[in-house]
Amino acid sequence: MTSEELKQIVGKISDPEIGRSLSELNMVKSATVDGSGASVTIILPTHAYPGRERITAAITAAAGQDVAVTFEHNVKGKNTGGSIGLKVKNVIAVGSGKGGVGKSTVAASLACGLKSLGAKVGLMDADVYGPSIPHMMNAQEKPAAVDQTTPEGQKLTRIQPVDVDGMKLMSMGFFTEPGQAVVWRGPMLHKALTQFLKDTDWGELDYLIIDLPPGTGDVSLTLSQLVGLAGAVIVCTPQQVALLDAVKAIDMYKKVNVPILGIVENMSGEIFGRGGAKAKAEEMGVPFLGEIPIEATIRVKGDDGQMPDLFTEDHSAKEALINVCQTTAMQIAKELLETPQMPTLEIL
Ligand code: ADP
Repeated sequence: MTSEELKQIVGKISDPEIGRSLSELNMVKSATVDGSGASVTIILPTHAYPGRERITAAITAAAGQDVAVTFEHNVKGKNTGGSIGLKVKNVIAVGSGKGGVGKSTVAASLACGLKSLGAKVGLMDADVYGPSIPHMMNAQEKPAAVDQTTPEGQKLTRIQPVDVDGMKLMSMGFFTEPGQAVVWRGPMLHKALTQFLKDTDWGELDYLIIDLPPGTGDVSLTLSQLVGLAGAVIVCTPQQVALLDAVKAIDMYKKVNVPILGIVENMSGEIFGRGGAKAKAEEMGVPFLGEIPIEATIRVKGDDGQMPDLFTEDHSAKEALINVCQTTAMQIAKELLETPQMPTLEIL
């Protein structure tokens, strides 16, 4: 077999996640057959791609011999932040119909999980009414303001996000005293969010996860106007009342044209039941992104400011947490791979 023949064979394999051929999806970077054997390099659309073993098995089977398969990543993104200078491929908002369902826990898990899989990630806590991300991530320092000069000689002040083991973090909580109630009025909130996105030195990121305040539409509207979101993840618990709130939240996001990535059912299990969110997602025609069990380890790690541990230590909810990261990232990747790239028209 020649390298070219191997490339042909591999190109015809159907991607196990998206169902189109690897060549159509531009996922085959190289195929080589030489004295040392056969090797293939595949480019994945996200670090959270769940089908590596299946691709390797399909390549080996199709080639009829051992093939050394290596994976590289080129995270697909809508890159919508350009107009405000944001170099983030995907901005993902995490919302809920009401508080206390685990929205911040899911936002922090998405960020920690995607980072543990190898992606460049930022986490922005826009939950002005209960900013809990700094606590969950054990971020104690405050962001610093740094004066910079652009290559064009323009002076500007940028906010350095707090760095938690390589994850960039910003929170409304850094600017308020603990326990102090802040009444954020619309214009003030809009201004603060704009500043958080525009004046923060996020650098280049694959994913920026934003923890939204529960319920309200104004924050997500501001965000979608400013940057254009890859989409919103809606978190709910399995109880009927919580599901009704989630339905309201989804309707509201749809009204303000925020694309819905899907619903996550959190705290599934004996106490609250399970499966309700999946049925509701099907009924509403939105993707279901997975369920996370109610599990003491999750609460303890959040309370102790050790959220990243959930992806490095063994515990019974780990697989479910990773699954939610995978389905969410794949939802974005699938959408971008399936729809041909259209020229974008900016309407101001
Ligand atoms: P929200 O952001 O929706 O207000 P939080 O993420 O702050 O909710 O979660 C509320 C409480 O529930 C926190 O103490 C958190 O640790 C806990 N919690 C969230 N998800 C789970 C889970 N799957 N299992 C156990 N406890 C959880």
